[in-house]
Amino acid sequence: MSWEDNVRRVVPYTPGEQPKIKNIIKLNTNENPYPPAPGVFKALEEMDATDFRKYSDPTCDELVTAIADFYGVGKENVFVGVGSDDVLAMAFLTFFNSKDPEKKVLFPDITYSFYDVWADLFRIPFRQVPLNDDFTITPSDYFVENGGVVIANPNAPTGVLLPLEQIEEIVKRNPDVVVIVDEAYVDFGGQSALPLIDKYENLLVVQTFSKSRSMAGMRIGYAFGCKKIIGYLLDAKFSFNSYTMNMPALTLGAAAIKDREYFEECCAKVIATRERVKPLLKELGFTFGDSKTNFIFAKHATKPGKEIFDFLRQNGIVVRRFDLPRISEYLRISIGTDEEMDRLISVLKEIAG
Ligand code: PMP
Repeated sequence: MSWEDNVRRVVPYTPGEQPKIKNIIKLNTNENPYPPAPGVFKALEEMDATDFRKYSDPTCDELVTAIADFYGVGKENVFVGVGSDDVLAMAFLTFFNSKDPEKKVLFPDITYSFYDVWADLFRIPFRQVPLNDDFTITPSDYFVENGGVVIANPNAPTGVLLPLEQIEEIVKRNPDVVVIVDEAYVDFGGQSALPLIDKYENLLVVQTFSKSRSMAGMRIGYAFGCKKIIGYLLDAKFSFNSYTMNMPALTLGAAAIKDREYFEECCAKVIATRERVKPLLKELGFTFGDSKTNFIFAKHATKPGKEIFDFLRQNGIVVRRFDLPRISEYLRISIGTDEEMDRLISVLKEIAG
């Protein structure tokens, strides 16, 4: 017997690299290439560090109010956390608690690779449902007995969007469990399930400031749901850590979300670049699904994914590659500025053209 027998052992999630090298073109973690809204810079200047001696507001009211106002929902419908990773982890802990080990939580086999890590950490039984060969989801795969459902929509790392009607069908057919829809990338061309929270008590819609609002480093995530489901999340949060979000995140997050025009402009720029790059990648022999996100998940007709990944890296461009079944030949390429994408295409021409 050793103390190590009592350790909760887990295989952790591997986050995308944050290289220290300067002048690298960083297309590996789906960050936004544009800065946060101008109001964020102003709010940062006005911040007074003297306030930091106090605890931050445990209700996160400033941020919750700003999010509720932007989306036209009640404050009781909004939960916030330290990035959507924190929100999702709290949701797994709160809602995936079936007494019956046969009732497994369902999510696709190819999806955000943190889901199985949280399930392992919290000892939640789960089953990974294979995506179709074109990376689409068949909703009826989720019309079976289960302990909960998680769907990233659009999905990551595939970029493929499931139409809202099909999301609704999954929520409707699973009234006895919570269905989490992870909308980290929805602002780049998807349709949010947010309007459905009035209709379905069992729906939790999760979003983030990390992608469309250019605030990955501030770590701000949020969720929408009916008053009851948000109440359960708050109970779990206040049983774990009352002061999850720090003062700058609350103030700067509120400043970021107030600027609708800047937000829409940034999303439109990323979408325009993505659509411009798609035919260029096709010409070079890449195939990919119709991404509705700020990344393209692409595979080359002849060149191995690892070889292209290494070649890009040698040329100062970092993308993401997952050494996982079914997708090891794919590269996930975040959408950068037009200049960054032009450089990517010209380097790719050297190896794949
Ligand atoms: N969900 C998905 C599908 C993601 O790709 C990511 C980003 N890695 C997250 C959630 C978490 O993002 P964040 O914690 O930065 O909000």
